[in-house]
Formats: sequence, C-alpha cells, structure tokens
Amino acid sequence: MSLLERRVVPANLPWGIDARSPLGRPVTVSGSATRGTVNGQPVVLAGTNNYLGLTYEPRCIEAAVEALRRLGTGTTGSRMANGTYAEHLLLEQELADFYGLPHALTFTTGYQANLGMIAALGGSDGILMLDAECHASIYDGARLAGCELYRFKHNDPADLEKRLRRLGARATDTLVVLEGIYSMRGDQPPLAELCAVARAAGACLLVDEAHSFGVLGGRGRGAVELFDVEDQVDFVTGTFSKSLGATGGFCVSRHDLRYVVPLARPYIFSASLTPAVVASTRAALGIVAAEPELRARLWDNTRRVHAACTALGLLRTPCESPIVAVALAEPEHALDIWHGLIGEGLYVNLIAPPAAPGNYLLLRCSLSAAHTDADVDDIVRAFGWLAARYGASVLHL
Ligand code: PMP
Repeated sequence: MSLLERRVVPANLPWGIDARSPLGRPVTVSGSATRGTVNGQPVVLAGTNNYLGLTYEPRCIEAAVEALRRLGTGTTGSRMANGTYAEHLLLEQELADFYGLPHALTFTTGYQANLGMIAALGGSDGILMLDAECHASIYDGARLAGCELYRFKHNDPADLEKRLRRLGARATDTLVVLEGIYSMRGDQPPLAELCAVARAAGACLLVDEAHSFGVLGGRGRGAVELFDVEDQVDFVTGTFSKSLGATGGFCVSRHDLRYVVPLARPYIFSASLTPAVVASTRAALGIVAAEPELRARLWDNTRRVHAACTALGLLRTPCESPIVAVALAEPEHALDIWHGLIGEGLYVNLIAPPAAPGNYLLLRCSLSAAHTDADVDDIVRAFGWLAARYGASVLHL
C-alpha cells in the first residue's frame, strides 16, 4: 500500500467526515458568547473554554478594532525578524506584572508556547518528566527536544518521587511538567505535594495553566497561586485562547527568558501575534486583573452544574471544575448522544482518543462566567435528559 493509501483514509477519523461527525457540524455564533446554532438548532454553547466569557467583551473588541486600523491585519514576520512591535513588548510587560515576575514571552499560540519552551528547556541533553495526562503540545515539545522523556502516573506524587529517585544525581537535569487544570477531565493536581517532591530532588518545574489562568487563585494567577507555590515553580505557560478569549500563548518566569529565545523554534520560525490579538488580549488581561467578580460568577455556575451532575449520578468526583466530562465507551453511541444533546439545545465537545487521555470518549462541557442562570438551567436540563436515557452507560473513571 502506498503512503497516500495508508494516510488519506476514513479509518484515520473516529467518525469519518460525513455530516453527522463533529467536523460536519460547525457551530454558528453571532453576537453571543453562550448562545449559537448547530445545523439550525439553537444551542447553549458549553464547549468553548470561554471561561470568563470575554470573546464579545466590548472593551476587547474596541481595542482589537483600533489596533487593526492602526497597525494592520498582520505582522508578516516572526518576533526575531520584523514581527516585534512595541505592543508585543507592552503585553509581555503586563503579563510579567500580572504575575509579579520579571520575565514574560509571548507566542503565536498556546500550543507553540509549550512546544517552544519545553523543546528549549529539554534540549538534547536534558530530561523531561511529564504527568502522563499532559497535553499534546507538551509531548510534542518533548519530541522536538529529542531528549530523554519519562512519564509519571497522573497526579501521583509517590510515583514522581520514585522516578526522580531512579535518576539519582541526574534529577537536577530534569524538568517536571504539570498542568494547573487538566484539559479533558478537568481535574487539578496535588500541586503542593508534587512541587515538594520535585524541589527535594533538585528538579525544576513548569506548570501549564492553559485552563487555570484567570480561573483559579484569588487574583486569577492559576493553580500556582491557589496552592501557594508561586515561589517554587520555575516556569508558567498559558494561552490567550481560553479565559482571555483570543489566541496566543505565553511563558512567565523568574529566570531570564531572553536566553531561552534562540532555542525556542516556534518563537523564531513563526509569524508573531497579530496586532488585533495583542490589543484584545491586553484589554482582557486588564479585565482579569481588575474584575474578580467574573471568576466568582464562573465558580457559581461551576458549583451549580457540579452539584446537579453529581445528583444525576453523572459525576462521582468531589473536585469541582469548570470542565465537566462525561465518559462513554463506544464511539457510535457517544456520537448519537452528542447529537441528542444538540437536539436538547446543548453543545458540548465530543472528544475521542488521542485527545481523550484513555480509551474512551468524552462529552466535555466547559462553563463560562457569561452563562446566565437561564443558560445553566438549560445545561442542567440537558444533562438530566442524558442521565435519564443513558446514565447506565456512563463510565466512572
Ligand atoms: N495546553 C493545554 C493544557 C491545552 O488544553 C491547550 C489547548 N487545548 C493548549 C495548551 C494549547 O493552547 P492553544 O489552543 O491556545 O494553542
């Protein structure tokens, strides 16, 4: 069989590409962060990662429009070439200030932030120790680095300790990588314990706060703030595509990131953030810093949905999370239920391996500060429909 016969085949997709697959069901939005349509059917949008609901925030839109008119549609070059504008540096300064740290770098996507930082830090001679359920961008960074790679059991400090002990003195050459909230199942790490283990072994630490930035911590600085380990973590990465409602990524650190830049290939070889994105992200960052009530609203919605899904028997975890994931075993069955939920007026993400961390499917709901009480009522009602018909098929991981 030729390469094309092996690659360009339906078997590469769990549901093919017909109109019933998620690829054939685009979401139509118009003017609202929480309501849209799928195939003409009105839905509550609950698969967006739009945690603070800022995608339609007028101040972000105005800032983007002003930048678009003044600075144009794109930078047409990488940060190392012609793609560094004064506004990129201002955004980096504001991110560093937000964290109370001296250094920040921005990347064109959150994926590239992890890819660039992890590849640069791992290098060819370092050791990477990743939580087994880390995001693909982290694993891809490890591949790009080409260095030694180990995985420890998800959220398991004892397993991390065992593996670092096996490395002996080489533990000090190791970067341990974790996430603040895991993107698919929505769970949090035992961060204080994991940090203590890594520090005791002399390893350094990177926490990806893609789903926890703006969501956890009194000031929105993520899991590192919530678990009071900011002074123990070497690098924090994150994205502008979730709580900040745009696209892009960042790394902040107490270490001087300017020395890392020449090793971070996505920083060097990809065009920089567009001016409109930089402007809306700066406006969004100011709002995250100044308006903690958005976070409070997200958590009110989170608590309501967590309590309802627990009462319905869909969830068994005590850990409240703005990500609610219902696991199912069979792809076709999961696809049917996903369509059923759309029919009930709820749009969630349908996640298959390898994006799902195990051999199961996830109906993944993410909550937003922009969800109104009526939106939350509709979300809970649709989950009630799911529990009544398919509750027995739900896997408890
Ligand atoms: N890290 C994690 C944990 C993520 O879930 C994602 C995106 N889903 C990323 C990084 C990449 O972010 P982006 O989509 O902004 O490139």
